[in-house]
Amino acid sequence: MNLDPGIVCYQHCEGRLFAFCLPPSCTLCGADLTTQPLSTPPFRIPYPFVRASQAPCCLVIKPSKGDFLHDYRSSSDLHIGVTDSEGCVHEYDSDGLHSDLTASWTQCLSVPLITDSSSRLDPVWREYWDFTLHTLAQDSSWTMERYCEKSFNCYSFVLEFLQTLRPPGVDVKSLNKLSLCASLLLPHTSTAARYISLYRRLLTEKVVTVPKSS
Ligand SMILES: [Zn+2]
Repeated sequence: MNLDPGIVCYQHCEGRLFAFCLPPSCTLCGADLTTQPLSTPPFRIPYPFVRASQAPCCLVIKPSKGDFLHDYRSSSDLHIGVTDSEGCVHEYDSDGLHSDLTASWTQCLSVPLITDSSSRLDPVWREYWDFTLHTLAQDSSWTMERYCEKSFNCYSFVLEFLQTLRPPGVDVKSLNKLSLCASLLLPHTSTAARYISLYRRLLTEKVVTVPKSS
């Protein structure tokens, strides 16, 4: 089970209504929705977050403090880790490198790098991913003593992992924290940001209306 709050899109007359359940009337035209049929079937807005354990061989990100839906701001620091083929999160933080907190990654974004066009994990890459990750994890660099929030942190570990792995389609030579965020993470965080903002509006407004033209 995930923590999907279940935002549904209903289409009526000149627009779309977003809500957690069918509103009694259309906020655009006033029609009684309990008696009037919708023009198209309602659909669930895809929940962008997953449990890390459901996302093997991925980069995983979540806010350093709190969770995405309630606490995330665009300026928030994001914590990043890597899952192995079993969905176990390897993360480097002030406790050093560890892989014992997978259960706390209940609402994260996953960034797959070695899936084929039908989102299946390539078996050869999967094996190499685990090999690279487990080899790097045995390296004695990732201690709590060397950890530094500004300069030697969770991103350092992930960058080193990617530079060793060299996944397809990623230019690892020029990769740094900034380019990693811009090229690999941003597409996921911006989708999430739209979902979060809709979710928060619904908590207060109950129904969010978007006219057809926008
Ligand atoms: Zn309407």
